[in-house]
Amino acid sequence: MYDVKVYDRNTEANRQLSPHIQVHEVACGDGSRPVFISQTLIDILENIRVHFGAPLHINSGYRTVSYNASVKDSSPKSQHCSGLAADIWVEGHTPAEVYAYADQLLGNHGGLGIYNTFVHIDVRADKSRFDYRT
Ligand SMILES: [Zn+2]
Repeated sequence: MYDVKVYDRNTEANRQLSPHIQVHEVACGDGSRPVFISQTLIDILENIRVHFGAPLHINSGYRTVSYNASVKDSSPKSQHCSGLAADIWVEGHTPAEVYAYADQLLGNHGGLGIYNTFVHIDVRADKSRFDYRT
């Protein structure tokens, strides 16, 4: 689960983490150079991308602790800070569809949260599911 690797957003921005996902897509929104991300997470995102056959957008992947603190309603223990989480949406598909498929993939592990416009996915060891739709 904790197969987090580190990349350099300056020199490896376009490096392929999977056939459809590059380093810059999961880099922290504050421009920080190191990018920590779990390959297990990437493999799940790639699976989702291929399953739906449509562009998958990553709103947020890795976050530094300081950047995370600036994100509205974020948890101080956010899985994003460990490189274990991504907030995603898939073109042409609702968050409910993406959530349902990701739930099948994760089984009895990992975190999933559904929001109005995106889905949070993380690869924590235990199981967590939450609904933040308003
Ligand atoms: Zn998230």
